[in-house]
Order: sequence, then structure tokens, then C-alpha cells
Amino acid sequence: MRQPNLTSNLIALATKVLATAFAGVALALAGNALIGLSAALAAQPPKNIIIMFADGAAPTQWDFGRYSSKVLRQQPFVTTDVVFKEGAVGLLITTPNDAYATDSAAAGSAMSTGFKVNIGALSVTPDGRSVPTVMEVAKAKGKRVGMVTTATVYDATPAAFSMHAKSRRDYQALVDQFLALEPDVLMGGGADYFLPEGIAGGKRKDGKDIIAAFRAKGYQIVRNTAELNAATGAKLLGLFADEDMDFELDRDPAAEPTTAEMATAALKALSKASPNGFVLLVENENIDTAGHANDAASLMRALWAFDDAVKVALDFQRRNPDTLVIVTGDHEAGGFSPTYALRDLSTLSSKNRFYTGDEHLRMLGRITMSLNSVNEKLGRKPSGEMLDELVARHFPGFRLDPDLRESILKQQPRERNFSYVTQNLLGRMVARQTGYYWGTSGHTTQPVLIGAIGPGAELFRGYQDNTDFGKHLHRLIQGN
Ligand SMILES: [Zn+2]
Repeated sequence: MRQPNLTSNLIALATKVLATAFAGVALALAGNALIGLSAALAAQPPKNIIIMFADGAAPTQWDFGRYSSKVLRQQPFVTTDVVFKEGAVGLLITTPNDAYATDSAAAGSAMSTGFKVNIGALSVTPDGRSVPTVMEVAKAKGKRVGMVTTATVYDATPAAFSMHAKSRRDYQALVDQFLALEPDVLMGGGADYFLPEGIAGGKRKDGKDIIAAFRAKGYQIVRNTAELNAATGAKLLGLFADEDMDFELDRDPAAEPTTAEMATAALKALSKASPNGFVLLVENENIDTAGHANDAASLMRALWAFDDAVKVALDFQRRNPDTLVIVTGDHEAGGFSPTYALRDLSTLSSKNRFYTGDEHLRMLGRITMSLNSVNEKLGRKPSGEMLDELVARHFPGFRLDPDLRESILKQQPRERNFSYVTQNLLGRMVARQTGYYWGTSGHTTQPVLIGAIGPGAELFRGYQDNTDFGKHLHRLIQGN
């Protein structure tokens, strides 16, 4: 599927030269080959760039997507089976400026601007400079730009890729920045900060209707799946939920489209009248949210939904070989660790041990409600009766051990790094019977995988920093 191009030939040549020539000669020739490599990149930058962004995904998540898709869906997982196998593959260090473990704002900012920022900041450096984002650079180059997410559209990743703020939580101001930036496509949840208080779902304090303001600027507005699939406009604002869009397990398909449906509509809109090409970011946030909740069943379905959207991007790339498709994430979430474990604490004998396998995966496949939904239904003062009923109905074959049940009813976290009490404890219930354990309810420092196919893909090969990702993107968009 990968387009044979001059760049990969040059890399192959450089490798051959290094392997066979005498050291001194090799150094000189390798230098020449590298100069040739930048010339090749300059000669053919991609016209379009599609960034497929799985928030909270690192190698363990990708491999779980591959394994579960094969066993339960009998389908290839194209992220691993096509992009990582056939494309250029690398790893990115995720560390922010002011810590070791990152948040999505700092990680997204580094990947968007090429600069390290502090946790919580959106493309503003520690010394207060607003440094150019990927989408700003693309717009300045005459490219069309689009952002799609399952989170609120003003969430950390799409915001860091396009705008600037000292705090990611300044939602109303971020929506104002979107109106000024005018991305050609903007889709996801977060209608709340587009609408004034007083209108259903609205949270704006200034009484403004920003949806109407986008309409006045020539945008087609879509609010559900049917409207999205019928959309014909070149500029689209799609808001499908007041806050985050739902997990696959809870989603109403008529109200909220899939990530693949959003990606399809975004590509259709962006391809219109785009002589200079486009840059599109497609994010699935539910992978991260499932990690925070320690919800393996929701994670699995979020990974599949994301992968279906990667398929859409790859199909587009096949028809438009001047497109670069990148698949990556920003950091790991949850310390996800499928493993082996004791069935109970009666004996340490290896006979009492199970290795997670297909039968445990099938148990995950039978779960019918996300842990966040269970938490919402139970509320702050859970009733034992309702808890037992939800577990019996939506978690067939699972038993809630008395220690976990008691901690849920008392709303006691079991450790200081597990702050989503009900979800994390139910996640532990699932882990005890399936081996899908989690180390935390936060982010971890695991480097993220990146795979790229198309012109410029070779830049992303190898072990790099997340700021390198931003630098490469700027260079490819600038065409130098
Ligand atoms: Zn997160």
C-alpha cells in the first residue's frame, strides 16, 4: 500500500552505503545521501496530511486492538496490520516541560508547535509565547483545515493543534478563538459552549449563540448522524453532543455518528475546492477516557471505532497518493496491562493461575455498558441494590467481590492514583476475572507509537521527541 518513492529509495541507499563502504568513505557518502534526503523531501511534500490521533493510546493499546479485532471481529486491525507493518514506524517521548508524566494539552502542544509547554497549557510556551500551531501554519500556506474529535471540539487536542491559551479550561474563550480561526471543518461534542445559558444545554455566560455566528460565516451546521451523512457544504460545523460524545457501548447511532462517519464527511468537505490541499486531525478521545475509567470493554470498542476511521483515511490515501496519513497518540492512559494472575488468594500455586486469553476476551465482549455510564446511573451515593442489578444485567458472568462492592458503596478510592472510584473498582472486578489489569487512573510515561504512510512518512521513523513530530509537520506543510 505504501507509495514507492524517492525518499525510501534514498534511505535504502544510505543504509547500503553505510553497511558496505569503508568508514571514512561511508561517512562522506552518508552525508551526501542525507543532503539528498532533504532535497527529496523538499521536492515532494504531501499535498494533504491526515493525522489520525488516538488520545491515550500507546503500544499496549494498539496490540489489544489488533488481538481483540482478530479474535472477536475476525477483522484485521489496519493500524497495526497495515500502517505499522507497511509504513514508517517510530516512537515519541511524551514528557512535558514541567513534569515526567504529561497531560493531553502539553503533549498536543508539543506535537502541534514543536515546543515543550507546561501541563495544562495550549501552545503557549513556559515564557508566555504563543507559538504557531499546525493548523495556523497550514492556513497561512493556503491549505484547508479540519478537526474531528469524539471529545468536545474545544478539548485539549484539537485546541492545542489550532489555538493558544494559558489554560485548557477556558472553554468559552476557546470557542471564540475557533470562530476567529474558521477551521473549514469542526466536528465533535461540546455544543454547550456554543450556546448561551437558557437554551437547552447552553453554558455561555455572554448570551451569544456561536452556532448562529458560524452559520452567518457560511458554515453548514449538522447536529445528528443523518444530517452529517447528507451534508454537502465545503465548510462544516458538526456538534453532536452537549459535552463529550458517547462510548460505543452507550452511543445512539441516530444521534451521534461514528468516528469513521465523521472522518468520511470531513474528507468529503475538505476535498472540495482545495488546490493547496488540507490538513485534517481526527481524534478518538474515548480511548483515553476508557483508560481513566479502567474500562477494558469500552477501550476495545473505542479502538475498533478509531481503526474503522483509519481505514477511511487509508482508502483516501490510496485514491490520493499525494496524501500523508499519520497514526499516533499523545500518551498512554491507565497503565493498561493485560497479564496473568491468581484466580483467588488461597494459594500461590501456579495451578491457581490463569493467563489472559480468548475466553477472557469473550467475557469483555459480552459487557453492554461503559463503566462511566454505570457511575452516572449510581451517582455519588450508590445503592447496593442498583449496583447488583447493573452488574447482573450488563456484566454477564462477572461477580463483584465483597471488598470491591463495599468500597463502591462507601465511595472509597483504593489507592491515591485511582480517582474514578466506581469505575476503577468495577475495572478491578473485570481485571480479577479476565487479567485486564490497570496500574492507574491517570496517564503514564510510555512512549507512543507512530506510523506514517505517504510522502514525508520517513521523517517519522525512529525514536524521537514529541516536539520533533511538530517540527516535521511544520516543515512538510511549508514544503521545505
Ligand atoms: Zn487523559
